[in-house]
Amino acid sequence: MIPIKYVDSNMEKLVFDLQTLIQQPSISAKNEGIEECALLVKKMLIKSGIHSEILRLKKGVAPLVFGEIKSKKKNSKTLLFYNHYDVQPVEPLDLWDEPPFSGKLKGNKIFGRGSADDKGELITRIKAVEAYLKTVGDVPCNIKFVIEGEEETGSANIDAYLKKYKKKFACDGVIWEFGYVDSKNRPIVGLGMKGLLYVEMSVKESIRDAHSSLAVLIKNPAWRLIEAVKTLRNSDGKILIKDWYKDVKPFTKKELEIISREPFDENSFKKEFGIKSFLANKKGIDAKKALVGDATCNIAGFVSGYIGTGAKTVLPGEALVKIDFRLVPQMDPKKQIQRLKNHLTSQGFSDIKVKVFHGEAAARTRIDDPFVTQVKSAADESFGTSILNVSNAGTGPMYSFIDNLGVPCISIGSTYMFARIHSPNEFARVDLLKKTTKCICLIMDKFGKE
Ligand SMILES: [Zn+2]
Repeated sequence: MIPIKYVDSNMEKLVFDLQTLIQQPSISAKNEGIEECALLVKKMLIKSGIHSEILRLKKGVAPLVFGEIKSKKKNSKTLLFYNHYDVQPVEPLDLWDEPPFSGKLKGNKIFGRGSADDKGELITRIKAVEAYLKTVGDVPCNIKFVIEGEEETGSANIDAYLKKYKKKFACDGVIWEFGYVDSKNRPIVGLGMKGLLYVEMSVKESIRDAHSSLAVLIKNPAWRLIEAVKTLRNSDGKILIKDWYKDVKPFTKKELEIISREPFDENSFKKEFGIKSFLANKKGIDAKKALVGDATCNIAGFVSGYIGTGAKTVLPGEALVKIDFRLVPQMDPKKQIQRLKNHLTSQGFSDIKVKVFHGEAAARTRIDDPFVTQVKSAADESFGTSILNVSNAGTGPMYSFIDNLGVPCISIGSTYMFARIHSPNEFARVDLLKKTTKCICLIMDKFGKE
């Protein structure tokens, strides 16, 4: 039996528990309320009938909440829910209509930081498991929860946690921490995430800024850096670093088929950002393919000299650029860094200092994995329809899960596309929380039957 009725008749309790979670601040960037929130989540799991404990790595690292409930059925497969209990900072405060940690319910919306990202998603997983335990007294498959507290600051330690607790976290499939629902109420079943390489490149020419009349003699580091950056990619966005794409495989026929089916409203997208055309004049399928599978070399910031009001003639002593590269499957961040460094040297820019902040590989679950069909059909049943997405254009630590646990990983969830996550007036929609909780019940059912 799938406890759909229980979900329907216990929505008030779900909302109340979500409000309780929102009311406990847990800002990882400021280490505010982290320990308290971990404890609260542990208590909530236990209240729902799930065994729970707090795991630790070392001092200064946010605790991880682990939860587990075994099925009475022998040889059951194990489904793992990955979520996070930390939230983004709430600033700017004056743009919130309600206090950021109020959890106020207005009609179909629950407002507050973390209401959608990720406490709303977390509550749907907890309540789906609870629904089974409170009705059937058992779960259709073994369940594990891995709930971290540093996702919003970049999941710096999730890989170390996965390595340390590899046996404890062993499973057969992972449900990712979020999932978007589009403006037509269609959930997006996501099979992958891009990777990310974040670097800072800098040039120092003189020990201090100089009078700009001396530009006849003193080299300008801003020019130097611009010249170097210009060699990294062409104006169509293609990266010119030697062997950058060497390990990348083209889309399979099946992937292309799915990409072509994915809805993408070019005009409203352009309107949203006030732009007239896309990079390299991409249109139609090419724009969709780019979102799913193109690597990028993006200038995130460029600083040098005087940028205040009015005019100031100055010859800057140094220049600095921050660049983020989105990586696609098979691109190894370590190899790519070496390729970038080799490129700079071979182009005569060995004086440019490269500092690496972050390297994370892309991840993609195979389309023909049975888990994909299970999640997709659960989403179709609960929402009426759903969209399959080969890869999200963004980045998350999905590779760490696939690499360490060796299992497929799929994102599905309750986050409305315009739920203002990371912004003031973030909200979760009650209708979507309900549908997602049911969807998770259905996934557990299908996964247990396999
Ligand atoms: Zn977030």
